[in-house]
Amino acid sequence: MSFEELNLNPSILKAIQEAGYTTPTPIQQQAIPELIAGHDIMASAQTGTGKTAAFMLPALHALATPAQIRSRGPRVLVLTPTRELALQVSEAAKKYGKYLPRINVVSILGGMPYPLQNKLLSQPVDILVATPGRLIDHIQRGRIDFQRLQMMVLDEADRMLDMGFIEDVETIAAATPATRQTLLFSATLDNAIDRVAAKLLKTPKRIQVSSPKSKLDNIEQRLHYADDMSHKNRLLNHVLRDETLKQAIVFTATKRDADSLADNLYAQGYAAAALHGDMNQRERNRTLTRLRNGGLRVLVATDVAARGIDVADITHVINFDLPKFAEDYVHRIGRTGRAGAAGIAVSFASVKDNMNLTKIERYTGQRIASHVIPGLEPRIKPRSSGNGPRGTTPNVTQRRKRSPFAGHDSRPGFGATGESGRNRNGQRGRAIGADNRGNSFRNGDSNGNRVGYQAARSK
Ligand code: AMP
Repeated sequence: MSFEELNLNPSILKAIQEAGYTTPTPIQQQAIPELIAGHDIMASAQTGTGKTAAFMLPALHALATPAQIRSRGPRVLVLTPTRELALQVSEAAKKYGKYLPRINVVSILGGMPYPLQNKLLSQPVDILVATPGRLIDHIQRGRIDFQRLQMMVLDEADRMLDMGFIEDVETIAAATPATRQTLLFSATLDNAIDRVAAKLLKTPKRIQVSSPKSKLDNIEQRLHYADDMSHKNRLLNHVLRDETLKQAIVFTATKRDADSLADNLYAQGYAAAALHGDMNQRERNRTLTRLRNGGLRVLVATDVAARGIDVADITHVINFDLPKFAEDYVHRIGRTGRAGAAGIAVSFASVKDNMNLTKIERYTGQRIASHVIPGLEPRIKPRSSGNGPRGTTPNVTQRRKRSPFAGHDSRPGFGATGESGRNRNGQRGRAIGADNRGNSFRNGDSNGNRVGYQAARSK
């Protein structure tokens, strides 16, 4: 299905195209036609599924038709549990609505000065995005006229419930016209959410899409501990030499790192380029076109720039730096394994990243198996963390014979103990070789070509 088939206003289609989206996500495919038809919906959809556009595109579509009632009050109200989410939703509204004439988006969030909010609310508002507590204050002071409200969206309703906002949400709903269309989005649709829906929605259509967790099933996730930047570079070099790699996205933490890493890789002969938020739209489009038509083998990107990339030949995603947020991890690695293909996601981490790794694993519900590449073992033994003995028993990406030194090292390190651990499917397996006598492994080979090196050592 294409966006054109959803019968959205042409100005909205133009903005979607500019955002780089080619196909509606499952939640968008299911929700948008129901919403344009005027139904209430309750949908289970997590961050990363494209849920924001699923409600914002039809909301904007409705706003393209002039209001029937003369008022300055909002025509669309989105309630979110957190300020961060509210700001994201506002950004999305502006992005998708940029070619519609005069769409005024206002955010009303706790912690912001009242005088500024009063001013914003005194002007005509089309879309109001708010956290419940602060909005109630303004409603009670008579600052919001809901006469012409057409649509109310409860985003992340499960979190609003958990945070004790549901009474506030009900109070707000009571201040809006009964004729409104109501949308409820929640990570899960359980009994508690059903009770909220029963009070606020009218014969809603239920929509269920698979969570990001199940979307990751065709992606093999690997972890490599890295001691320092030079170690990361050598690991990256090794991964990029994998013959199964068609195209890869390498994620860095900063725009500057994306630029310098892309330059380094280019200098080494890789068809590599950077993509990040400091580039203008024309440059970004040009780079994306090169990626799509196969002219680029390695894209080095920051999180901001990578959103929306959907290229079937991306076989590998490499987290040169781990993302700060677990949602971004899911988003990043979802750039591979498109259209049911298998993908490989490799993350480089230092021992300092263990907390972050645990957060990511908790979010995805999947453990990221640690691997070592013979000759590129980390010097430092990663500490155990989270739900298992992280790092003590890595998988060896290229297996080789057990080293005569294994288990005899006075500084038993990564895999030297010969313990067994779990791989990503939860199966137990023995760690082979991979002692931590870094010296002998690391000497000798300075050109980064480890493939022949392994054979040479085991002779
Ligand atoms: P959300 O689930 O709303 O947080 O969206 C997750 C990310 O998916 C956002 O960065 C959107 O920009 C992006 N996105 C939304 N819809 C699409 C689409 N149809 N194609 C590609 N990316 C999309």
